[in-house]
Amino acid sequence: MDLSYDYPLYRPPSEANSLIFQVTLGCSFNKCSFCNMYRTKQYVERSWGEIKNEIDIAHESQPDASRIFLADGDALSLSTSRLIQILEYLQGKFSKLERISCYAMPRNLIQKDPSELSQLRRAGLGMLYVGIETGNDLLLKRVTKGATSRGIIQGCIRVKECGFTLSCMVILGLGGKKYTQDHIKDTARVLSDISPHYLGALTLTLEEGIYAEFMTKFGEKFEHLDDFEILDELQRLVEFLQPNSPIVFRANHASNIYSVGGTLPEDKGRLTSLIMELRRHPEMLKPKVLRRF
Ligand code: SF4
Repeated sequence: MDLSYDYPLYRPPSEANSLIFQVTLGCSFNKCSFCNMYRTKQYVERSWGEIKNEIDIAHESQPDASRIFLADGDALSLSTSRLIQILEYLQGKFSKLERISCYAMPRNLIQKDPSELSQLRRAGLGMLYVGIETGNDLLLKRVTKGATSRGIIQGCIRVKECGFTLSCMVILGLGGKKYTQDHIKDTARVLSDISPHYLGALTLTLEEGIYAEFMTKFGEKFEHLDDFEILDELQRLVEFLQPNSPIVFRANHASNIYSVGGTLPEDKGRLTSLIMELRRHPEMLKPKVLRRF
């Protein structure tokens, strides 16, 4: 028997081959003005009985699964004891398991203290995907992220110190034309402080269902960046980043205008040359109809 998911279902691009269990449904926050992912869902923490049953079903067809992703939007909201129960059951069930990961909000990272995070790490949760979106405090407020740059840095450094592999996401174009300089300057500063192991840059794409809400919450006229300005943000982000350890960088999400990737700071020169080449040859960019958030 196959698992039946409660759609919509999201996972990071790098979890394409992972077995997915929805231990929560929706997002416990669900207020970020740019995010339409879980607006149709009520946040629910699924019962241990439901989760265990799904693990048992999946094990029958995929006993050799090596990667597992815990969905939906912020599985780290679950209590530490429930998460440990899930992690220990998964570890006992899947003998070839190499990695368990989930999404987390910045606030999840500071709601759990270091000893809880260390327990989760020891129980097998290895990788966290954290949407930080921007390092600029005004923009964090305008997009109702429910986080500050200070809290983001604190939480991200905490999970790294507890041994997690950390993957952060930021959104190009989030500040529109007016805040493009501040957005990238502060985002590069915050990311340099954190130095996550992985970094993904998405591009702002407002779906119809949240367009009006985004504009209202932004509180002033918002002007979208054009493709050249997005490339400019990408270039500045790459140039300004000064990590204290290497970051595997990707801008290969469905929303991006071109797939770019490398290791920073090592590949700064190559990425900058590629971005400049794209500016000279906009015909190489992904057609607008193929871009989505
Ligand atoms: S961006 Fe993340 S935290 Fe914000 S509403 Fe979407 S899923 Fe929830």
